[in-house]
Amino acid sequence: MIGQAITKRFLSRSIQRTVSLQHTKCLSTITMKFDKINERNSNNGLIKRTFQKTYYRRLASTISVEAAIPVSKAEMFCRQCEQTKDGVACTTLGICGKTPETAAIQDTLLEVIKSVAIWAVAARKAGATAEDMMPANEWTLRAAFSTLTNVNFSETRIAEYIRQGMVVKRDLVTLVKNKNGALPESSDTASLDLPDSLNPLQLEEFGRTVGILENSKCMGHDDANSLNEIGTYGAKGLSAYACHAMEMGYMDESNIMAPLHEIWAKLASHEPDVDGLLANALRVGQVNAATMALLDRGHCDRFGAPTPTQVRMTAVGNKANILVSGHDMVDLYSLLEQTQDTGVNVYTHGEMLPAHMYPKLKAFKHLVGNYGTAWQAQKFEFATFPGPIVVTTNCIVEPRKKYRGRIYTTNEVGVDGVQHIVGRDFSKVIQQAQQETLGFPRTVEPARFHTVGFNHRVVLPLANQMIEAVQQGHLSRIFLIGGCDGSEWDRSYYTDLAEATPEDSLILTLGCAKNRLIHSPKLAEAKLANGMPRLMDMGQCNDSYSAVVVAIELAKALGCTVNDLPLSLAISHLEQKAAAVFLTLLHLGVRNIRLGPRLPAYVTPNILKYLQENYNLMPTGDVQTDLKLMMAGK
Ligand code: SF4
Ligand code: SF4
Repeated sequence: MIGQAITKRFLSRSIQRTVSLQHTKCLSTITMKFDKINERNSNNGLIKRTFQKTYYRRLASTISVEAAIPVSKAEMFCRQCEQTKDGVACTTLGICGKTPETAAIQDTLLEVIKSVAIWAVAARKAGATAEDMMPANEWTLRAAFSTLTNVNFSETRIAEYIRQGMVVKRDLVTLVKNKNGALPESSDTASLDLPDSLNPLQLEEFGRTVGILENSKCMGHDDANSLNEIGTYGAKGLSAYACHAMEMGYMDESNIMAPLHEIWAKLASHEPDVDGLLANALRVGQVNAATMALLDRGHCDRFGAPTPTQVRMTAVGNKANILVSGHDMVDLYSLLEQTQDTGVNVYTHGEMLPAHMYPKLKAFKHLVGNYGTAWQAQKFEFATFPGPIVVTTNCIVEPRKKYRGRIYTTNEVGVDGVQHIVGRDFSKVIQQAQQETLGFPRTVEPARFHTVGFNHRVVLPLANQMIEAVQQGHLSRIFLIGGCDGSEWDRSYYTDLAEATPEDSLILTLGCAKNRLIHSPKLAEAKLANGMPRLMDMGQCNDSYSAVVVAIELAKALGCTVNDLPLSLAISHLEQKAAAVFLTLLHLGVRNIRLGPRLPAYVTPNILKYLQENYNLMPTGDVQTDLKLMMAGK
């Protein structure tokens, strides 16, 4: 049955978009094979695998942009993050550990997100209220977040999102019809209906018909496809940020959710509308700016205005411990409440380090410090942590056996076989901490500290001092060095660059890439001539808004544009939140960004040329050469 639906889908696409006869034949042959496979045994893994290989090889061989990809063993196609295989695409197994099966079912989920978005747009046009839209809003944010790199590897959980999404979509259809609203333009995505009876395997099979290669083929235009991918990954990151805001009770129907659904709906189209897709990608940046502002407000309202805070980076001994990683401050707050007076100490890990800057979080005395570094070190750091671990959002790495029995996920994070906590009930985690672990054997003295909390509310009052220092020649330049971290050796560029910056320069950092800088003895205690610290940690990637506000306000104070400031940006990117922040910088007209360690695989030469000509986007290069150019304002 699903095979027939797919054949119909391909054929109608072929007619609607005048896809070549060769393509139609190719698709018909493939879908006939697909039907046969389903008839014979849809649960036969061997046949499925053989089919997948044939399918991807045939598709890729007809697509110019992917023609160079070694697809002889291709079983999946994902290039949404920087660590993608060989800088081209993951085609057999994700570098992140994502399997072809998970990749395929996530592609199905993405198609459902677009279908829901099309109907959400129609529902708003028909007069749906913010309350009417709440289920679609909430589902869209959670579903999209679950498809980000290093978030959800569980096919069962993704299948559940798909089932919920179809319910949301059917409700929207009913709502539009009840309100006599205009129906959306007919398309395969708009009419998508995946019955609840489909099992994960069948949902995967469907996903293989709507992935990047297939979309690229339907679009028939490499640059338009590239822009569609840029918009898609940016929209995923934006959805994730909006999801964080939602967790704190903040949602903006008119300025975030309505445009976000329009963005997703636009991404559903296969029209090779280069201008429209470029505008759509920049709109992601615009809406993401509003989202990050909302997130910043949410954090501040909920947990107090950040203040510079010294965080203990070494162990406190002889106590049961829990480690919290990810980005979700509400989870951490809830865990701190539940562990109060239980004798359990709580440590932050990775992107949770900035939690210590919020008054209402640091008020908990048993939030004793931070343990470990960035996400890619989990396999070692989690294995050696004496206590259970809670991963609240990205980025999770497939857990090792050694700590699999004491790691928990919350929210959108999912790994099959790992315990998932719903409703913020951490009793099991607390019990495990109390019963099974003795904690660190001793308190490490002398303790080492790192200062967090250079939020825009803290940095902006220093603006006059900074301007004065620039004018008097005591501050030569401000560097923004941050973003995502990762395991590639060439990410050492960011450490080398920071350490090579002149002693009279200021470094702002954020995101988990900060771990490349904050442990540097050369930078840790360094101060400017006026006593200001040389290295200011602004927070998580979720706090990128702080850097944007500081840049805009400094430019205002100096009566110039952001691009005229003595400011250089070296951004380390990995996943889709970074893609959203990057689009926000473009939306704000920020030029001269150095992006690394590699440029995204989904950007075609023409789109890269456009970004270079209009924004002077540059890849990171040799540290000394880059630094010389940066000091010259280039
Ligand atoms: S998310 Fe990144 S590493 Fe994982 S499969 Fe996709 S491109 Fe590869
Ligand atoms: S900054 Fe990016 S790579 Fe680092 S933990 Fe956050 S989402 Fe993951």
